[in-house]
Amino acid sequence: MPTRTTSLAALLAASLPSVACSAEPEPEETEVWEPEPAVVEPRSRGGAPADAIVLFGGDLSAWQHEDGSPAEWKVGDGWFEVVPGTGDIRTRATFGDIQLHVEWTAPTEIVGDGQGRGNSGVFLQQRYEVQVLDSYDNRTYSNGQAASIYKQHIPLVNATTAPGTWQVYDIIFHAPDFDDDGTLAAPATLTVLHNGVLVQDHVEVRGSTVYIGEPAYEPHGDDALRLQDHDNPVRFRNVWLRELGD
Ligand code: MG
Repeated sequence: MPTRTTSLAALLAASLPSVACSAEPEPEETEVWEPEPAVVEPRSRGGAPADAIVLFGGDLSAWQHEDGSPAEWKVGDGWFEVVPGTGDIRTRATFGDIQLHVEWTAPTEIVGDGQGRGNSGVFLQQRYEVQVLDSYDNRTYSNGQAASIYKQHIPLVNATTAPGTWQVYDIIFHAPDFDDDGTLAAPATLTVLHNGVLVQDHVEVRGSTVYIGEPAYEPHGDDALRLQDHDNPVRFRNVWLRELGD
């Protein structure tokens, strides 16, 4: 017994004029069905995608100081804050290519200016700094302001809002590749959106961030994510990342 679909198809075919020899490509020829992208709930745990690694879910257990001791930064209700003098903190886990989400806010009490105001930093693989700085009405050198790749790339625009408001960084980082003999095969790249505004457009990182002199690469593998203690009580929240496959 023919199905309704079959009947309709047969009816349509019969009603269409026959084409003897068509060389026209069919749209199906350029359809690719495999692989099928995995389904990911985009706003799952605390707003992070379901496949994200949440690095702050209310405590700093995912973090440690340089010497391996527990992170001593201050933890509040849904945020944590640099305690000046305790030193940088870094993740216990190490990562390669990642999509990283970080929110931060500069102190509302304005102390200092230029590089001394709301300074911290997001160091990919402990080496490559996306600058955190209160750049709201606070001039400093352009390649050292908020969302700069410190001393390497000036942000395309300044999307900083007032101290006390949350700044959102969405960062796409591709780690550098090194040949077996340690020479650089491909530099790291960074794309940064600051408060949803593109500020770094797939820029090539020139090497490890340095304060003085020219950056250079040293061969390394996966490494931790590091947040900087620059003596300012900068707050962070909603830190999560997704590991990117090759
Ligand atoms: Mg910094």
